[in-house]
Amino acid sequence: MEMQKEIQKNIIPHKGLVTKMDRQKIKGHKSATLWFTGLSGSGKSTLSHALEQKLIEMKVHCYVLDGDNIRRGINHDLGFSPESRVENIRRVGEVSKLFVDAGVFALSAFISPYARDREMVRNLVEQDEFIEIYVKCSVDECEKRDPKGLYKKARAGEIPDFTGISAPYEEPVNPEIIIDTTTVSVDQGIEIIVQYLSENGYLSL
Ligand code: ADP
Repeated sequence: MEMQKEIQKNIIPHKGLVTKMDRQKIKGHKSATLWFTGLSGSGKSTLSHALEQKLIEMKVHCYVLDGDNIRRGINHDLGFSPESRVENIRRVGEVSKLFVDAGVFALSAFISPYARDREMVRNLVEQDEFIEIYVKCSVDECEKRDPKGLYKKARAGEIPDFTGISAPYEEPVNPEIIIDTTTVSVDQGIEIIVQYLSENGYLSL
């Protein structure tokens, strides 16, 4: 830790010649992190990928960050212990921030079970640049869906620290958007998010 501080002292950021606003201008819209949080199987990946397709059709620059491209790449060294989960979210938050700085919407789909970690990511960017989307679904329903067979493995004791079964999930208290996937279809969910972005001025400058 002390060593890190010493190293950080000599890292002086170079001031760029292009601002976030310049980058947004050539795209014609703002940028933000859309943070999808919820239990495994609640619908984060399904919704974020469907939203990516919809936004690209609308010529809005965006990119999905999820377990597939993050846990297999930049975070391939991390597991699911509480410490690893904190570090996983910290890195994803920093990567999302870079996307926002690049003028791109980061669609970040991670269980992110701890409220404190989500707050930490929220605080990395400007106030209106973090949109928390709670993908709400009961454990019972997620377990029924079990799209990856993970609940079955968790119940059999093959996966330790499984959110909702043997590890906690802290529900968002004040998310910008709640999508209850037990009552809202994928298309309706996308519509709700696009409407939020449009009504709050994100899709134009
Ligand atoms: P997560 O990324 O949260 O782990 P997934 O998107 O991988 O969840 O899986 C969610 C599962 O639930 C998929 O099989 C999907 O087809 C299904 N599903 C059923 N209804 C919905 C809905 N309204 N929104 C999103 N997913 C839904």
